[in-house]
Amino acid sequence: MSAKAWLDISVIQCPNCKRYYADASWYVAEIGADIECGICHTTFNTKKSATDRIMLSLKINAEGKVQEAEIARRLSKRKRQHK
Ligand SMILES: [Zn+2]
Repeated sequence: MSAKAWLDISVIQCPNCKRYYADASWYVAEIGADIECGICHTTFNTKKSATDRIMLSLKINAEGKVQEAEIARRLSKRKRQHK
């Protein structure tokens, strides 16, 4: 027996050192928050630096533990999404 859960996430790239980060899309696309790169300490805008946005599907077992993660679908980086 397995269940599913979904998480809307955005991939962000540091404009300076090119390191990638993944964060919840509400934080990136809706709020458009600034973050500081953990490697080079450049502060940048997550929304402007987003390279991708996906709906992540998590397969969960009877004990509530995540077994697998996969891309359910690719979302627009700019538009607000409604489920
Ligand atoms: Zn950086």
